[in-house]
Amino acid sequence: MVQNNSDIEDEDSGRKPKVCKNCGKGDGIKEIVFGYPSGDFDQEKYIPGGCCIGVFVPKWHCAHCSHEW
Ligand SMILES: [Zn+2]
Repeated sequence: MVQNNSDIEDEDSGRKPKVCKNCGKGDGIKEIVFGYPSGDFDQEKYIPGGCCIGVFVPKWHCAHCSHEW
């Protein structure tokens, strides 16, 4: 179920960052997904970003400080 090929996370490769860039906490990071993916949408891990994509599209959301980057 869990797709975790490696613990090595590199945000440049699109993987989930270990910590929030703003507050440094690592347990509140959710991936922002646009649109509404069918199937296994885990709201513990993902947050819907809506269907409108603007100029700046954050990919990660921190549940602690609401920082998005
Ligand atoms: Zn944060």
